[in-house]
Amino acid sequence: MKKRITLAISVIALVSFAWLGFAKTEIPSDGKLKVLILDGQNNHKWEKTTPIMVDALNTSGRFSVEVSTTPGKKGSEAEWDKWRPDFSKYDLVLSNYNGQMWPGEVRQSFVDYMKNGGGFVVVHAADNAFPLWEDYNEMIGLGGWGKRNEKSGPYVYWKDGKIVRDESKGKGGNHGPQHEFVVNKREAHPITEGMPEQWLHTKDELYDMMRGPAKNMTVLATSPSQKTKRDEPMLMALNYGKGRVFHTTLGHDDYSMLCQGFYTTLQRGAEWVAGKEVTIEWPENFPTADKTSPVELAK
Ligand code: ZN
Repeated sequence: MKKRITLAISVIALVSFAWLGFAKTEIPSDGKLKVLILDGQNNHKWEKTTPIMVDALNTSGRFSVEVSTTPGKKGSEAEWDKWRPDFSKYDLVLSNYNGQMWPGEVRQSFVDYMKNGGGFVVVHAADNAFPLWEDYNEMIGLGGWGKRNEKSGPYVYWKDGKIVRDESKGKGGNHGPQHEFVVNKREAHPITEGMPEQWLHTKDELYDMMRGPAKNMTVLATSPSQKTKRDEPMLMALNYGKGRVFHTTLGHDDYSMLCQGFYTTLQRGAEWVAGKEVTIEWPENFPTADKTSPVELAK
């Protein structure tokens, strides 16, 4: 009998202990940075890539993520009238959107949010959006396609240890066939502090000939383009009003985002745009100069 009671007590103790442990990990701890991801239209596979970025942010333990999806291309006016994300509730906004212009009211509230100190992360393809929206182009610094040309701003590349702003005529935005490529660390910045000088990115499109206002912009990393034979900007940090922006041109497809290099730079960029100290560490499996580090998406 005594044995049974002891056993029962042990079981209760064990269950309580397990419950406490469970409860501890399930309750979101205060201080997580709130992220809003925007998607819904893109000439890229946003349905596949948004969950990867949600995973990239969630697995760091630093963020809590929500997604706001716009109406599709055939969306009615009534549907668009309902799409009114409240940016002010978030520490940062991440765009995976490349499509129809947002309603004027949403554009204005996004500009206000950023001017008042908001955070914005823009990724591959989302930097093709809105060629004629002046404030958006100031935020992202550089963009491509959508008939961008010298009127959109200079073609920016890296040469002899500094940024070159090429004002000559030409289109904005281009890339060659996809391949793995090296990413080189450039201007010093909290986002890339401690990043290896050089790392090999998984298969992706290497954007070149990107153009834009490129104001208040730090080029964090570049990659050598086989097309232009120049070092093209890959990662950038910008200030816009009181807001901050992290721009990564990386991330054409799921396999391009499923790269530890993409993951860690996105996490650190997101922390920085939220106006916080960058605390996310460079993991041991970060890619090296000659070895990529693919990430497996948790199922
Ligand atoms: Zn692409």
